[in-house]
Amino acid sequence: MIIVVKQKHDQKQLDRLIEWVKSQGLDVDLSIGAHSTVLGLIGDTSKIDIDLVNALDIVESVKRIQEPFKCANRKFHPEDTVVKVGDAVFGGGNFVLVAGPCSVESEEQIIGIAKEVKKAGAKVLRGGAFKPRTSPYSFQGLRGSGIELLLKAKAETGLPIVTEVMSVSQLELFENVDIIQIGARNMQNFELLKEVGKLRKPILLKRGLANTIEEWLMSAEYIMSEGNKDIILCERGIRTFETATRNTLDLSAVPVLRELTHLPVIIDPSHASGVARLVPPLSMAAAGVGADGLIIEVHNDPKKALCDGAQSITPDQFADLAKRVNAILPYVDKKQIEGI
Ligand code: PEP
Ligand code: MN
Repeated sequence: MIIVVKQKHDQKQLDRLIEWVKSQGLDVDLSIGAHSTVLGLIGDTSKIDIDLVNALDIVESVKRIQEPFKCANRKFHPEDTVVKVGDAVFGGGNFVLVAGPCSVESEEQIIGIAKEVKKAGAKVLRGGAFKPRTSPYSFQGLRGSGIELLLKAKAETGLPIVTEVMSVSQLELFENVDIIQIGARNMQNFELLKEVGKLRKPILLKRGLANTIEEWLMSAEYIMSEGNKDIILCERGIRTFETATRNTLDLSAVPVLRELTHLPVIIDPSHASGVARLVPPLSMAAAGVGADGLIIEVHNDPKKALCDGAQSITPDQFADLAKRVNAILPYVDKKQIEGI
């Protein structure tokens, strides 16, 4: 349920209204925008008498939200959520490049790539330490020491880091990680979602391989209902009957999500396509459709990569892609990336 408050209201009346809502056993999400002030009511609102609330002096309108996702709903929070991490600003008309290897392989590799992608305009460094591999015989990641190496790359370059957590037991190693990634395979690991919801750290929530947009938003809801509101959604391709690409990039998810939610949305063209040469055109399309950023796999020597070499681009290719994407941004009302 949302309560839209009249533009001209008195702060005391608003405080009293919030207190009353809380006394009904509900939580309140207060969204103060340039054009409206909205109270989002969280919890079981079935006992709230809409007519009674509507009759209050301060109230403009009251609506029940039909969609099952509430905190993530644009109706709940009409303004874009803006997630700030270091120099990276996700949402609110900004565009962020996140780049780095699929997996952290060595100190030299991660620091070398970090320096290159930073020069090309990346504001966040990616790199997997815990890797969800289809085969148990494939490289599983450097695990805890991979996180240590990411932190060294961060110290060296100043870039904040994003890396994937696969289970609750690993979370203690993520204390100094800037953004925690929930991978596609864990999008519906509800215990993990609840646990990261208790943190005060941004979460990059990837779309599950075969999940609908509504299911994805319900996963965001799991995190938000625990109190963590800093979520960045990431479309990374879904399973379809098509086999020419690793997955099918659902670009329509971007404008659809823009209507449904206030959360920022980025695109991962690397996992979506599985093919390095498709990454630049899909990145351009993602910018064109209004995404808030890109997460791209970049490797210094893709042929020798321990994971996902076929979809990894080189630092030079990344620098070229960044320039091309940057040229599109003014057409979609996004701020350009400075200095590239
Ligand atoms: C990744 O980003 O390295 C990854 C494993 O992605 P996804 O969960 O989208 O497959
Ligand atoms: Mn990968």
